[in-house]
Amino acid sequence: MKKRISTLLALLLAVSLVPVTVGARTEDEPHTHKICADADCPDNHEVKTWTAWDSSSALPNEAGYYYLTNDIITENGVNVVDGVYICLNGHIIQSVGKGTVTLTATPACDNCGLTDCTDTVHKFSEREDGLWVLDEENGDIPIEGAAIIGSMLIASDIMFEMYNINAVGDDGAGIFLYSRGKVLLEKCGISGNNGSHALNAISPVELRDCIICANRCDSAVRVSNEFKIGGRITIDANINADGKSCNLELREGRTVTIAEPLSEYSYIGVSAEAVPTIGNPISVTGANGEDYSAYFHSDNYNYMIVNGENNVVQLTEVNPKTYPYTINSLKLVSASGEEYDEIPTDKGFIVDMDVTKVADRSGQDYFIVAAYGENGTLVSLNYIKADLPTGTSFSCGVNMPKTDELIDTVKAFVWDGLGTATPLAQSVEI
Ligand SMILES: [Zn+2]
Ligand SMILES: [Zn+2]
Repeated sequence: MKKRISTLLALLLAVSLVPVTVGARTEDEPHTHKICADADCPDNHEVKTWTAWDSSSALPNEAGYYYLTNDIITENGVNVVDGVYICLNGHIIQSVGKGTVTLTATPACDNCGLTDCTDTVHKFSEREDGLWVLDEENGDIPIEGAAIIGSMLIASDIMFEMYNINAVGDDGAGIFLYSRGKVLLEKCGISGNNGSHALNAISPVELRDCIICANRCDSAVRVSNEFKIGGRITIDANINADGKSCNLELREGRTVTIAEPLSEYSYIGVSAEAVPTIGNPISVTGANGEDYSAYFHSDNYNYMIVNGENNVVQLTEVNPKTYPYTINSLKLVSASGEEYDEIPTDKGFIVDMDVTKVADRSGQDYFIVAAYGENGTLVSLNYIKADLPTGTSFSCGVNMPKTDELIDTVKAFVWDGLGTATPLAQSVEI
């Protein structure tokens, strides 16, 4: 796995994370380029003249356009303040302190940004736990462009923009977005980080032409706010500590907005907090003018991507299971028929199960009610054996006398036999 990711990554970075090179400069020539360092930029960026910044430990705290002439190594992190735009000029900003945030763009940064106009290569080696460590001598993972090594906290109030920068090798939090304003990441790479999330999008963000891969996180990108993408987006080959795919995770019912058309070779692995069920797919994107479903894939083998109505990219079940029986309801009642909301702890109760046979099937099947204790231990198991005509329903009541053990869960299921235990209905539990 390790080898595969590194090779894939090197390839991906080589083909598409190549910032536009402005050309070799001599010492005396002014450092001029647009913020995006893209001569053919379709946006109306102006060409700026950038002032040399020679510090190797701090960033400027007066508004202006600067370019680094040295790597910045920090113990307590550096802060991008309002009106400061920095061209990293191929350099790195690295945290060597324990548990520090390497770079912050705090609320004082109403408008600020980072860019890089070079194709400088930095080399990294992959540690056992997936973390990329700077290793200019012997590293086998080349990264093109400037790199911020360590975590970033972005809490800009108006606009934070970042072009051609790699956020690499943080073993804590990657990029944490907590902005009230707009955050734009263009032609950026987020790789070789581990921990909870390489990009934690608690606040809105827009990604254009970005690559997020080879992170070892609970989920590489966690989306719980507006999330816009466009251009060539790769969020792939990210795994968690158990080796499972965990790329883009949609939380709190959030979807991805395709703000600008996705380009060819975009590839985005998706999972969602919500679970798609039969007839209830989950929206991955909003409505689109065209079918983008080929650019998405499911991180979970039980689900797959489909193109829904209005070209909404959706997650749906691979093989919706059709069972011969449906458990319509499962209730806990007293001997006098009074229904309990919770499992009674001080007295026995009756479990009422209502079932319909919805598909043809012959033979006696087992309608089972089981009670489990706090640690999942089986406290009691009762069943009824029956061969029902298709289309009929029946209810049964199973008595659960008071036991010494606390009952935590009551579950109903239908099996073809106790030994074979093939499920014939979606189980229901209380
Ligand atoms: Zn531009
Ligand atoms: Zn520059």
